[in-house]
Amino acid sequence: MGKIIYLDNAATTRTAPEVVEAMLPYFTENYGNPSSIYGFASANKEVITGYREKIANVLGAKCEEIYFTAGGSESDNWALIATAEAYASKGKHIITSKIEHHAILHTCEYLEKKGYDVTYLDVDEYGIVNLEQLKASIREDTILISIMFANNEIGTIQPVAEIGEIAHEHGILFHTDAVQAFGQVPISVDELHIDMLSASGHKLNGPKGIGFLYIRKGVKIRSFIHGGAQERKRRAGTENVPGIVGIGTAAERAARTMEERTGKEKELRDHMISRIEAEIPYCRLNGDRLRRLPNNVNFSFRFVEGESLLIMLDMKGICASSGSACTSGSLDPSHVLLAIGLPHEIAHGSLRMTLGEDTTKEDIDVVVDALKEIVQNLRNMSPLYEDFIKKQNV
Ligand SMILES: *Cc1c(COP(=O)(O)O)cnc(C)c1O
Repeated sequence: MGKIIYLDNAATTRTAPEVVEAMLPYFTENYGNPSSIYGFASANKEVITGYREKIANVLGAKCEEIYFTAGGSESDNWALIATAEAYASKGKHIITSKIEHHAILHTCEYLEKKGYDVTYLDVDEYGIVNLEQLKASIREDTILISIMFANNEIGTIQPVAEIGEIAHEHGILFHTDAVQAFGQVPISVDELHIDMLSASGHKLNGPKGIGFLYIRKGVKIRSFIHGGAQERKRRAGTENVPGIVGIGTAAERAARTMEERTGKEKELRDHMISRIEAEIPYCRLNGDRLRRLPNNVNFSFRFVEGESLLIMLDMKGICASSGSACTSGSLDPSHVLLAIGLPHEIAHGSLRMTLGEDTTKEDIDVVVDALKEIVQNLRNMSPLYEDFIKKQNV
């Protein structure tokens, strides 16, 4: 396989060499179980604490408020299910949004089967939740509001501080799935009134299979994985020491490089958006133009199928994703694109391109040139497009 241009960093990222290097000794030399008594192994306890502290610092949190998990999905499941159980005597109502990741939505469906009531907030055409609807949805028995920080498909960033404020005014816990936002936008859990926050290593140039859940001190949340006494008895299982070193290094690195990296990404993102809008007719930018992740580009192209676009791009070594990536195998368009009001046929012609720290202007130009040609070729084969053009010319 020749050179590839990787524009699917919302799906996963390359583990940075610096991160791999930091992890390696914890496979080969310092492999001891941190719970063992002898110094060779128990030294890893301090190693874990050190990396826990690095992550806490990035969020303005306390070291003991960071709990390592096996990734974003586990953190989301834990936050929702354990809160639901721990606060069931107070109420059984949860508020979330229609555009959450499936780790949240499917967990909510599970809780509905267990007798909980879930309100799914609408979003506007840009993907922003309606704060008035949020306030109106709050009930006596509401125990949790869970709204994602930034959307993984269209990149829209939510008014997190306002949501947190509303939650706290009503004495309700606020959880946010920050898997896409952590490392991309500055986050302070105190300023944003966040009680719980999910993040994942592999979305920020760290390793896969490691994540964390931030749980504010005082939140009574139960353990999710039962067994040993690891993670303050709240998440059993021998610690993934290399993974913890990896996500800690990645988090510190992401915070250190954030300003420069996201500045460059925003420039490339906006260059890509303006070129596509100027050079490819009948397209629509999905998501908010400004309240947007620095690396997210998502377009719908009329008269083409997202799947066909992906296949043609793949033939040119370009990796991207369509709106339906998470529901692959199903013909339903993405729930996010439907929630922002796209008709099915437009949602089907969607393409997500997410830049990474290695993306160059040259990559972007190569991709836009390819896209222009592919969209035109696909449209030339489309009877709908032919009809449309005929009507235009009458
Ligand atoms: C990727 C992702 C997840 C899942 O994280 P994993 O570590 O892959 O389990 C959850 N939420 C969002 C918004 C994501 O983008």
